[in-house]
Amino acid sequence: MHVSAIIAAGGRGARFGRDRAKQFLRLGGRPILQRAVDAFVLSDRITDVVVALPSDLLGSAPDYLRGRSKPIAIVEGGARRQDSVANAFALVSGRADVVVIHDAARPLVSADLIRRTVAAAVECGAAIAALPVTDTVKRGDADRIIVDTLPRGEIFLAQTPQAFRVGVLRDALARAAGFADATDEAALAERAGHRVRLVEGDPRNIKITTPDDLATAERLVGPPARSRVEGTTLRIGNGYDLHRLAAGRRLILGGVVIPFEKGLEGHSDADAVCHAVTDAILGGAGAGDIGRHFPDTDAAWKDADSLALLTRGAQIIGAAGFSVVNVDVVVVAQRPRLVPYIDAMRANLARAMGVATDRVSVKGKTNEGVGAIGAGESIAVHAVALIARSI
Ligand code: MG
Repeated sequence: MHVSAIIAAGGRGARFGRDRAKQFLRLGGRPILQRAVDAFVLSDRITDVVVALPSDLLGSAPDYLRGRSKPIAIVEGGARRQDSVANAFALVSGRADVVVIHDAARPLVSADLIRRTVAAAVECGAAIAALPVTDTVKRGDADRIIVDTLPRGEIFLAQTPQAFRVGVLRDALARAAGFADATDEAALAERAGHRVRLVEGDPRNIKITTPDDLATAERLVGPPARSRVEGTTLRIGNGYDLHRLAAGRRLILGGVVIPFEKGLEGHSDADAVCHAVTDAILGGAGAGDIGRHFPDTDAAWKDADSLALLTRGAQIIGAAGFSVVNVDVVVVAQRPRLVPYIDAMRANLARAMGVATDRVSVKGKTNEGVGAIGAGESIAVHAVALIARSI
């Protein structure tokens, strides 16, 4: 069965009171819209996705809408929600059997809720997620005087997702012109005479309308996962560096000044350990390399402390949502003997990246006297890094 998802993200979030539309604010390290999109891309029931964006963002759609495991089409949102949905529906595949519509402002939608809503729509024609009320419900007049107490068992609070067999949604949208401003698609379907089933919603599937809602969602999300594999993207990076040994230079490896008759030549402090590790973490994130971020033609990096470059590298991958899981380093040096300095290097590297020392390994090797490294003309460093991002 072909199920297309429409994510309505065309709103400006006027009620939120920030200069940036709320769906682009971060929640637990990921933009709110990305969380909503990820939920549908990862759902085993969803075939493809259409996202309605504010018109001024069409030309600069965020990266997470590109190159995903399922096709994502982007369409211009309209003035009202139902206009955004109509624009998106026009782009839905002709092969779609079911269309499921979701608000980007509900980023905590679960795979189970998507599955149950789609299944109910297949059965009934249309279905929405909704929560039963627990409070007593009153109806009031313009003066806030109670007119009526409503039967609580018959009252439900509508959420999204809302799913429809494609013919039902087409009919509902075609008749929408007659309804001034429906706040959801279920209302259009009801008014068009279709049966719409209520599916048990999820209290965690909150709608982020105000800054307080965002704070509540942050509590629900909890701290970013660092070791969970499900829902985590793991990436490996590889780094290599080699510097010549020369007289009159200090030998600095992993931020440790090592007493020796020669040191490494270079524009910065020539700390090949820091350089290889920085390249490894940048490489894992696909974020370029040390030469791109800290060019040796730039006087700012002359004699630079390479631990600071490593910290900057960790910040660069952090901005892309990644954190360092572990790093393993091999230093190939004929001399000096590195064993006494290994733990200090590990501690420096770990501190620079903001991780625990046990995440960092440093090993020393000689080159068995072979080649330029074996002759003591240079030192080479190899590093691999595992980095992780939730989703
Ligand atoms: Mg270097």
